[in-house]
Amino acid sequence: MPVDSFHTSGHSPGPEVSPPTALSPGANNAFIGLQCHLCKTPFPAEALYVCDRCLGPLEPVYDYGAIRLTREEIAKRPKSLWRYRELLPIVGQPRTGFNAGFTPLVRCDRLAERLGVDELYIKDDSVNHPTLSYKDRVVAVAATRAVELGFKVLACASTGNLANSVAAHAARLGLECCVFIPDNLEAGKLLGSAIFGPTILAIAGNYDDVNRLCTQVADRYGWGFVNINLRSYYAEGAKTYGFEIVEQLGWRYPRHVVSPVAGGTLLPRILRGFRELREVGLVDGELPRVHAAQAAGCAPVVRALEAGLEYPEPVRPDTIAKSIAIGNPADGYQVIQSVRATGGSGVAVSDPQIIDAIRLLAETEGIFTEPAGGTTLAGAVDLIQRGLIPRDESLVVCVTGNGYKTAEVVSDRLAAPVRLSRAFKEFEAWWEARQAIA
Ligand SMILES: *Cc1c(COP(=O)(O)O)cnc(C)c1O
Ligand SMILES: [Zn+2]
Repeated sequence: MPVDSFHTSGHSPGPEVSPPTALSPGANNAFIGLQCHLCKTPFPAEALYVCDRCLGPLEPVYDYGAIRLTREEIAKRPKSLWRYRELLPIVGQPRTGFNAGFTPLVRCDRLAERLGVDELYIKDDSVNHPTLSYKDRVVAVAATRAVELGFKVLACASTGNLANSVAAHAARLGLECCVFIPDNLEAGKLLGSAIFGPTILAIAGNYDDVNRLCTQVADRYGWGFVNINLRSYYAEGAKTYGFEIVEQLGWRYPRHVVSPVAGGTLLPRILRGFRELREVGLVDGELPRVHAAQAAGCAPVVRALEAGLEYPEPVRPDTIAKSIAIGNPADGYQVIQSVRATGGSGVAVSDPQIIDAIRLLAETEGIFTEPAGGTTLAGAVDLIQRGLIPRDESLVVCVTGNGYKTAEVVSDRLAAPVRLSRAFKEFEAWWEARQAIA
């Protein structure tokens, strides 16, 4: 295993340990095993993701009573997602992601003023480490668990950002890597994987086609697909986004969170994170309302919320928000449950609204997000206007990806640079002419 060259924050990577054969509860942490989210049947902590009795998703179980975490203890730890390690499904030491997570929670007063609200924050995973999206959280956990379980090939079905993160983490762990993506991704997304040297399979089809293929590959070849057979571990990494919001607000809940929804991992895990912090005594109060934002061109969860359905009906995606263009979300049921349980809402926004929101965020707060972040901000604007987010209640808008990867969606709408020679006179003439107009 290579020396941990990424980490700069004093986190000890710990001794090398061979993959565990069995889990002993409470040995390293309170992680006990897996259980079915629906029928609660217990399963061992292996690369299992679906219940063989009811086909429900499997999720890790913890012995919360055994967790003795205090705010003071957490504050002493390095600023990465591993500061909540007791609530993450690994048994040994973290192997990667030593600088993933603990991204800025930015108080946005200029944006708040424009929207006419009192207290607005952006949770900014556009600067997550190492690949500039929320996916570095889920991959840090899944890749660590993949090493613990002895996988030699790390793989994924991706809309772009996940492939970037899997490729980067596989590179630093020295694992073989194979990423599957739709063949129509933005240039920056493709580059952001290719630079790390994985095998990239660009499949003729949309994400849902890619995912179907990958499920067959995972069954046949036994590779570690972070979002398929390692999904139970992967999804847990997303809880850290919720943990950090609470810690960074000074150990309190906001009243509202607006989250994007693609496959439906993030939104329910933000809520699971909120609940767990209360369970282990780190925060109290009323849970936030969690709102789901999707692009109108791919809004199966929002449509299901509007229609009163329990499960989304699959759709064929057609939107510029490619990283969240999943027509058949694996965790759609859990998103719908989470939104309803907290009294949140669903909101679908058009591609022009998404672009306007990307520009609004950039021009008011200096944050450059991709269309997924434009979707959540546009969704928040709509919910505020409809009175579903009252103007005097605190609000966190999730920004999950970076705009530099999707330059093509805004580049032809931006002001071109003023082109001049080196001569001062030319500058002066241009400046005078401009003053005259103004
Ligand atoms: C993957 C992704 C999401 C959310 O995906 P879920 O599958 O719903 O967790 C949101 N934003 C960006 C930028 C993403 O890459
Ligand atoms: Zn079950």
